[in-house]
Amino acid sequence: MKFSRRSLLGTGLAGAAGIASGAGAFASLQGYGAKQSKIKNIIFLVVDGMAHQTMGMVDVLSQLNAGKSSYWGWLMDQKFVTNGLQATRSLNSIVTDSAAASSAWGSGQHIFNGMINMYPDQTALKTLTTLMHEKGVRTGLVTTTTITHATPSGFAVSIINRDLEPIIAEKYLTSGVDVLMGGGNRHFAGDKRKDKRDMYPEFEKAGYTVVKDRDTLMKTKSKKVLGIFSESHLPFSVDRNNSAELQKTVPTLAEMTKHAIENLKDSKNGFLLQVEGGKVDHAGHANDLASIVYDQIAFEEAVKVAVEFALKDKETLVIITADHATGGPSVNGMGDEYVDSNKGLMSVNGMKASYEVLARKFGASPTADSIRDIIKADLGLELSAAEASAIVAGQKGQGPFNISGFLKASGMTMANILGNHTAVTWTSGNHTAEHVLVTALGPGSEMIKGLTRNVEFFDFMLAAKGIKHKNPTMDYATAQGHYEKMKLSLDQEWIEMHSVHEDCGCHHG
Ligand SMILES: [Zn+2]
Ligand SMILES: [Zn+2]
Repeated sequence: MKFSRRSLLGTGLAGAAGIASGAGAFASLQGYGAKQSKIKNIIFLVVDGMAHQTMGMVDVLSQLNAGKSSYWGWLMDQKFVTNGLQATRSLNSIVTDSAAASSAWGSGQHIFNGMINMYPDQTALKTLTTLMHEKGVRTGLVTTTTITHATPSGFAVSIINRDLEPIIAEKYLTSGVDVLMGGGNRHFAGDKRKDKRDMYPEFEKAGYTVVKDRDTLMKTKSKKVLGIFSESHLPFSVDRNNSAELQKTVPTLAEMTKHAIENLKDSKNGFLLQVEGGKVDHAGHANDLASIVYDQIAFEEAVKVAVEFALKDKETLVIITADHATGGPSVNGMGDEYVDSNKGLMSVNGMKASYEVLARKFGASPTADSIRDIIKADLGLELSAAEASAIVAGQKGQGPFNISGFLKASGMTMANILGNHTAVTWTSGNHTAEHVLVTALGPGSEMIKGLTRNVEFFDFMLAAKGIKHKNPTMDYATAQGHYEKMKLSLDQEWIEMHSVHEDCGCHHG
């Protein structure tokens, strides 16, 4: 953010653990909203866990396949956009999780990983959608994860633990958010929740139309929508693309985005819409190449929907970014003069299943032969006997990378062996600290360039709508003191009882 750099210099990173807050950004934005009265709508598109190479892989693959850029690659090169980077840290780590990252946007403050718009002393921060709702701005959240997951809820909810998804479902009921779409039936349905409370009739009573499949979504004209299209997260795009059944029942992110924009666009005071491509993060945690590529493409198709709307509308600010990177994928130079890299990456074209599907086919005790057959059939790769044996060893926790804390999980072992064929290897199954891409367009976008810190987006979006609010700041030492006490005083049994750990293969989705 060029215009606020001077004011931000005074709040630079303060030591190893003492983390700077977003203080200072707001003052420099005052008056900005008044000058930019043409910002009616804001669409914030976030691809969860996208590394530079994730976007880059899809771009070079598109070059190889079709001789042209990927959509984001094309977009970055247009005169009407600005490009930059975002710094992504949280209050207690240089590597953020999705909860602290979305909270940075949602309340303008750095908080601890694992929490949502709340400090460890249970001070709740006022959220972006609440502030917008109070000013008559309509709001929407659209995602491919559970709608109660960290990234969507980071715009709307304050809660001490991100795993309390059934409670987040309850909080949405009174949040004022008009459009909610994603997965997560098990956090809403009375026969799935531990407390047996059925949230659907309560949402209907509050004026929402509840939608549970793609066809019904396409027909609904209701202004308040709760769309839940899966038991947990929506399927990976590679699996949806290869299943007629999933294509019928589950909408794409682009379809949900289109529907949400149509729904929100007539709002007198404008709208704020968050769109999340959440499965890129899950694919990154799993080191799953086919899943990450096809979900990145699906995200970029949703970006296209938003950009085409904004270019016609001319009063919509579009921000496209990630919350952090996940998995550290890289296309490596392979073979003589590196020419084998092209064919390696193009092997994605023949891949038909996510690791989730492969794992089901492997079963509990796969053999080298069964693994070779399944990988040949579903990924189109011919493994050597030694490679297949190493993958089997990895499944038993005895893989060749067992000494590495970052690569010893069975999925990581398999992925890095598949790298012999795909040219793609991974650094870990965790989030990484890299700065992530930001592209923006529409009124106000000229302010978003250079390096922007995650907490600044809150001030920026509020200023765009002429809203003033500053949440309290807490330094790391104070927060850590509260955290120690919290661990003793919070009813951990209650948290355990109400929390749901998603089975996405990641500890922090
Ligand atoms: Zn994330
Ligand atoms: Zn994650």
